[in-house]
Amino acid sequence: MARSRGFKQGVKTGTFQCGAKWMSLYLVRFLRHAGCWVMASWLSLLPTGPALGADVEAVRLWRAPDHTRVVFDVSEVTAFSTVSLENPERFVVDLTDSRLRADLASLPLEGTPIRQLRSGVREGVDLRLVFDLSQKVRTSVFILPPSDATGHRVVVDLFDEVTSSEPRPVLSVESLDERRDIVIAIDPGHGGEDPGASGPGGLREKTVVLQIARRLEAQLAKIPGFKPVLVRTGDYYVSLKNRRDRARNLEADLFVSIHADAFREKSAYGASVYALSMRGATSTTAQYLADTENAADLVGGVELSDMDPMLAGVLADLSMTGTLDTSLSLGALILEQIDGVAKLHKKKVEQAGFAVLKSPDVPSLLIETGFISNPGEADRLSTPAYQDKLARAIRRGIQSWFARQPPPGTLLAWQREQGGREVTIASGDTLSEIAERFGVSVASIKANNGLSRDVIYIGQTLVIPEG
Ligand SMILES: [Zn+2]
Repeated sequence: MARSRGFKQGVKTGTFQCGAKWMSLYLVRFLRHAGCWVMASWLSLLPTGPALGADVEAVRLWRAPDHTRVVFDVSEVTAFSTVSLENPERFVVDLTDSRLRADLASLPLEGTPIRQLRSGVREGVDLRLVFDLSQKVRTSVFILPPSDATGHRVVVDLFDEVTSSEPRPVLSVESLDERRDIVIAIDPGHGGEDPGASGPGGLREKTVVLQIARRLEAQLAKIPGFKPVLVRTGDYYVSLKNRRDRARNLEADLFVSIHADAFREKSAYGASVYALSMRGATSTTAQYLADTENAADLVGGVELSDMDPMLAGVLADLSMTGTLDTSLSLGALILEQIDGVAKLHKKKVEQAGFAVLKSPDVPSLLIETGFISNPGEADRLSTPAYQDKLARAIRRGIQSWFARQPPPGTLLAWQREQGGREVTIASGDTLSEIAERFGVSVASIKANNGLSRDVIYIGQTLVIPEG
């Protein structure tokens, strides 16, 4: 097979050891970013210890909208080298002194640019992995240190070639649309390599929260004036930083991260709502959950160089204060709505240093829908009807807050300015809930709309009188 980029052949290699290992990997990453391919390739083959050999014990594939991630579980940290080849497109990863113990044939390749993944032995001891590709890709290969659930992993990311030249700029409020939608970024926690918490019967947090998030998206999409966007749409990992960036790029009015975590005691139960803390955590549970959530990047797979910087920097930003006030009052309304659907773990919005919530300009909340570690709650959380109820409670809280304080330039703000406030009835709405949302009586809504009974129907438009 052809070699390129001046790879040095036949260098005796071995496993990297501790500090030297990470320093070398950092240096390799840096040099690759800097375009020093020859030096980086040589460094990644530096002998730093005795050759122990590694077994590739398992392989998994996760397809995201813009890239494909293939993860190899390895028994030891191993040196690797890579090369891209054209005509036909191939990407080759050589793992030094390694053996394949996993089945490459059963990977779900459909919808990915990988036509085939095959393996071979190079120079008698190295494992060669060849990705036969149907299109050009941008590649990134890195090693992840062990987490609670996994050992060392070699991660191969294949990024799709972007066809459109520039991402479409988000239209500013002033420029075109005077009645823009309120954008809600809905973030199903975890995904891909990071399953989140586990419940009885193999129930995974990443699965449950995606289902709840989809229901919330569907409900919000039916309400004129709201535009929900899912931050994660399938089973793949998104870094905590990218989740925040997505919300900021969307110029979201709210970022809401959906979770269903576990606790040491199986008896722990109930829903709770969290905002970022400028100081310490408001409870030990909040601290515990923040620590767990912040470790997600390590489990989900983020290169060391892309790891989230420390929390402190952003918190110094004074603009955070206003955003945080909004988060807290919005969170309180959501909590009010969840009360009655689920038991509450905490009666008020708790705070801790959740990395995913630290956007300085987007109000951000993390909703703990329940403890998946509690068998009873896990049962409910996996039930479509209960997921719908939870989504409805969250939706009502969001709707209620924005109806009272619509951001300037939005359809809701415009409706308010017109004097009358119009509501289009969505699935699950009730007259009493709408009355509460706008701070008016049921009787006044009925009188204003000529209703003789309490019956309303989906799609019906009601004009809400001024309270
Ligand atoms: Zn979680």
